[in-house]
Amino acid sequence: MPKKRERASTVKGLVCRECGRQYPIKPIHICEYCFGPLEVQYDYEKIAKTLTRNSIEKRPPNMWRYRELLPIDGPPSVGYEVGFTPLIKARNLAEKLGVKEVYIKDDAVNYPTLSFKDRVVSVAISKAKEFNFSVVACASTGNLANSVAALAARAGYESYIFIPCDLETSKIIGTTVYGAHLIGIKGNYDKVNRLCSEIAGKYNWAFVNINIRPFYSEGSKTFAFEIVEQLGWRAPDHIVVPMAGGSLITKIWKALKEFEKLGLVDKVKTKVHGAQASGCAPIVEAVKEGLELFRPVQNPKTIAKSLAIGNPADGYYATKAIRESGGWAEDATDEEIIQGIRLLAETEGIFTETAGGVVMAATLKLIKNGIIKSDETLVISITGNGLKTQEVLTSKLVEFPVIEPKLSEFDELMENYTK
Ligand SMILES: *Cc1c(COP(=O)(O)O)cnc(C)c1O
Ligand SMILES: [Zn+2]
Repeated sequence: MPKKRERASTVKGLVCRECGRQYPIKPIHICEYCFGPLEVQYDYEKIAKTLTRNSIEKRPPNMWRYRELLPIDGPPSVGYEVGFTPLIKARNLAEKLGVKEVYIKDDAVNYPTLSFKDRVVSVAISKAKEFNFSVVACASTGNLANSVAALAARAGYESYIFIPCDLETSKIIGTTVYGAHLIGIKGNYDKVNRLCSEIAGKYNWAFVNINIRPFYSEGSKTFAFEIVEQLGWRAPDHIVVPMAGGSLITKIWKALKEFEKLGLVDKVKTKVHGAQASGCAPIVEAVKEGLELFRPVQNPKTIAKSLAIGNPADGYYATKAIRESGGWAEDATDEEIIQGIRLLAETEGIFTETAGGVVMAATLKLIKNGIIKSDETLVISITGNGLKTQEVLTSKLVEFPVIEPKLSEFDELMENYTK
């Protein structure tokens, strides 16, 4: 099935994260012997020869400037423009939080579908093309659906997208508009995912987060590569990360260690902290209670639908990454999520979705508990856009005064504002 390599690749193969057994590059994701997840293995000696601070800085401002650390053989076939989103120095928020240096990594403006998922999907669809698939598919909590639908359209692929049927309207329209086949499932994400595993076994499709998962998930690393480069080749003291399946946080940690190994950054002392909604916080619970294995949540209940995965595929590895880095984890109630969204909007002019509200609320708790200290460098991961989850806010924010077009009426109103 794999196409002949077009140029010398930096990828050695796939390796089982549990037993270490090696596999050639194929659209597989689970070890045949121990059922452990497979991961891409690179030739770091070879990478070090071409990937330097200098060579990276000369490349175009998109996620492919770190291409040696991404698992595709040729140039990307789609998503060339993705990534290199702003790292914003958040002075107002820093003052409010009482922390010296605060940055927002803002994937709410990632191209083309306004979430960090465009990073992973660009790699997945480019890899699907190298594998000669003709249909792409995914199980999604919303943002992945948008990204697969848009990038599949661009790549000229047919797509099948499976979601829990009760997602936000914007995430539904933001999928169907691209002509994707959208299928709603009566059940939560874990049920959708289980069904998709069965479908993936029967239909020869590239399921970006199932059979292509080892390649797909590597795209998340670019979020952290960019943070380090944008800080002037420096790793921050803290990164707070939203967790759904637990892949992004695991890959952020991997990315930092890869940059350290390649000498692109000094010894990494970053603590990575995870954030989930209180109504679905299996990874946070495992970290706080010191459990080795998390307890799956049967019925997730939260307004942060993008993070509502009760049985996170990478939950075990997320817990490990958090512990290894010396990080911690916090959860947020629905009320705290909304306050978090408003805090970021009012201080920095950034409108994030519910997942961003979760991260903001968790950050407040990490600071309050003394885990993040006032003289340290903090990066807050904003992974999705508020325009996609407006319904959680509308009841609170649709009220505003309406007046006749008369100066006298406005003057009267001003008296209220200045009172
Ligand atoms: C998918 C998603 C995440 C987390 O993804 P995992 O890698 O599954 O942990 C975070 N934020 C947003 C907005 C997402 O859509
Ligand atoms: Zn194995």
